Amino acid sequence: MKKELTCIVCPVGCRLTVTLGENGTVESVTGNTCPRGKQYAIDECTHPVRTVTTTARTSKGGVIAVKTDRPIPKELMMECMRVINRTTVTLPARIGDVVIANLLGTDANVVVTANMD
Ligand code: SF4
Repeated sequence: MKKELTCIVCPVGCRLTVTLGENGTVESVTGNTCPRGKQYAIDECTHPVRTVTTTARTSKGGVIAVKTDRPIPKELMMECMRVINRTTVTLPARIGDVVIANLLGTDANVVVTANMD
């Protein structure tokens, strides 16, 4: 079975073709112009992850930009958004402040990505 992907590691956006074995293992990757694309394709087919970038409510009203400090399993993204949506960031906040530690047991933290007083 072949699977078509667009590599999202860099802005070039190479079109990748992944050949999967019957048990879902990656047999080959073509179309990548660097090794990072091959690794992206393998990860995407075996254990897809995403960095979550969004906003969270603040203690003074309005919202502040936040993100996970490392990618989390793609299947946890909706639950991650529910947790972030229930969270209020106490102001003042500085870039890198941890808002949620060890999000859903993933070892990823949700951190602030903007300064706000
Ligand atoms: S394969 Fe390499 S060059 Fe192509 S989009 Fe991915 S990271 Fe960029």
